[in-house]
Amino acid sequence: MKALFLDKARSLSLRDDPLPQALGDEDVRIKIVNVGICGSDIHYYLHGRIGGFIVEAPMVLGHEASGIVVEAGRAVGHLKAGDRVCMEPGIPDCRSRQTLLGRYNLDPEVRFWATPPIHGCLRESIVHPANLSFKLPDNVGFEEGALVEPLAIGVHSAKKARIVPGDTALVLGAGTIGLVTALAAVASGCSRVIVADAKREKLDFVRRHYGARIEAFDIASGDLKAHVFAQCPQGVDIVFEASGNLQAIQSTTGFLTPGGRVVLIGMPQEPARIDVVEAQCKEAEFITIFRYANVYERAIKFIASGQIDVKPLVTHRFGFDEAENAFRLAATMPGDAIKIMIRL
Ligand code: ZN
Repeated sequence: MKALFLDKARSLSLRDDPLPQALGDEDVRIKIVNVGICGSDIHYYLHGRIGGFIVEAPMVLGHEASGIVVEAGRAVGHLKAGDRVCMEPGIPDCRSRQTLLGRYNLDPEVRFWATPPIHGCLRESIVHPANLSFKLPDNVGFEEGALVEPLAIGVHSAKKARIVPGDTALVLGAGTIGLVTALAAVASGCSRVIVADAKREKLDFVRRHYGARIEAFDIASGDLKAHVFAQCPQGVDIVFEASGNLQAIQSTTGFLTPGGRVVLIGMPQEPARIDVVEAQCKEAEFITIFRYANVYERAIKFIASGQIDVKPLVTHRFGFDEAENAFRLAATMPGDAIKIMIRL
């Protein structure tokens, strides 16, 4: 059994996996099939840290995964060997107050894959709680299964935005998270969704694959605010901020209809400022997002029903033995890359 360890910034090695693999009664053992590379994996690879989370000992990367159950614990009822699954990467303490309140993503003790010191899933085999492992319907493939994790953020954002049928939305940022948020907004009932970015290749990608439902707007060559108000004279009902860019965060309330909602998904590198009076004059509502809770099954159903097609998001594929190359490519952030997928 092998695993991909990040020893320190820019130093990866694929080597024997000595990590314990004891199977508890309520666990499943999973042979990993696909793992998507996330922005956070790239950040740890490049810098060895994200804020206060610092890689101090070799850590296995990866948290967006699908696989096949090879063994189920004695108390597991809903999964058996041979089942195809995707997994929620955050393991909360089931007795914590936040977990009992249904917000297990906010449990301070949550152990999230590939967030130091917790190992991730870029390993051939992993043991995981069965209640955080979700069976994939026959018409949902392994790559789509690995994409349920980022899609869960989009679905959680759409849910927390309390979308009303016919709402209009603006998504700032056309990276993976911006796109899955736009897809979830459309599937959740938005009548018009505009995705804005400055990278032409990302916008071309949106037009090519999702142009029928999502409008792509190039902020490098046009005035987004004028465009939004030409399309929606009162402003949009919801702004999803998925870029983490300080200027974008500051601009959010400007696009909003009075009484609208701003959903803050992207994480800025530094504290952001907002114009409070501008927000107050519209009674803008700010909603923040930290990962997700209780949306995996919804995300899987959106994929299985055909309402959300995540397949085009996979733009690059690598084998497990080429994983270092995958990270080297990901680190250059090529404009034509949306999701880089590793096949084990
Ligand atoms: Zn991710």
